[in-house]
Amino acid sequence: MGARKKDSDRRIGRRALLIGTAAAAVGTAALARDELGRLWWRVPGVEKPRKEGEVDYAGAHWVAASAANWRRADRPDDYGIDKVVVHVTQGSFDSAVKVFQDPAHGAASHYVVRKDGHVTQMIRELDVAYHAGNRTYNEHSVGIEHEGFVDDPSSFTDAMYEASARLTAGICARYGIPVDREHIIGHVEVPGTDHTDPGPHWDWDRYIPLVRRARTAATRGPSPSASASA
Ligand SMILES: [Zn+2]
Repeated sequence: MGARKKDSDRRIGRRALLIGTAAAAVGTAALARDELGRLWWRVPGVEKPRKEGEVDYAGAHWVAASAANWRRADRPDDYGIDKVVVHVTQGSFDSAVKVFQDPAHGAASHYVVRKDGHVTQMIRELDVAYHAGNRTYNEHSVGIEHEGFVDDPSSFTDAMYEASARLTAGICARYGIPVDREHIIGHVEVPGTDHTDPGPHWDWDRYIPLVRRARTAATRGPSPSASASA
């Protein structure tokens, strides 16, 4: 946009030039806004490399959720991650994994933890999962579903608590999230939600210390038993 544009501008009237410039400015701004909204993550060097089937937590098994149930992002660079949201599925592990693969469901979490401690990752932590029912919370959190029912205390097994705590400890370590009840919350605590999970039987007094212990163990490096159980 150098000399050539100036030359052509000189040949048109001042009024036409002003109108033209204003229209061009509006057009450019609108285009830039649209491009930024849609394509910012395609800017070379901005997007992190992705590999099909890659997981963020070494102990997780990958099953992809339907792309309709999450939004592509580049966290934590575009949205900082400062919360973990704990959910309970109100159904079996298999049914949760199945509905998260259904584009009509409109929701999914990053992880699903089974009663026996098996962990499935369905959405990358880079991306925004539709799990909290609150846009801002979705953008800034990682969602973990747990197999079971809010009104059934037997849903929450030792293996589940321990596997989930290791998973949450890893998330907290990756993004520098403090291990406390302000940053590790239940779905019920998300503003505007009508969900009650994880419910009164989810034992926070047990869970938070488990996360803290796993977090400390992780900073000391993985133990042989930890890698064997993964
Ligand atoms: Zn929930």
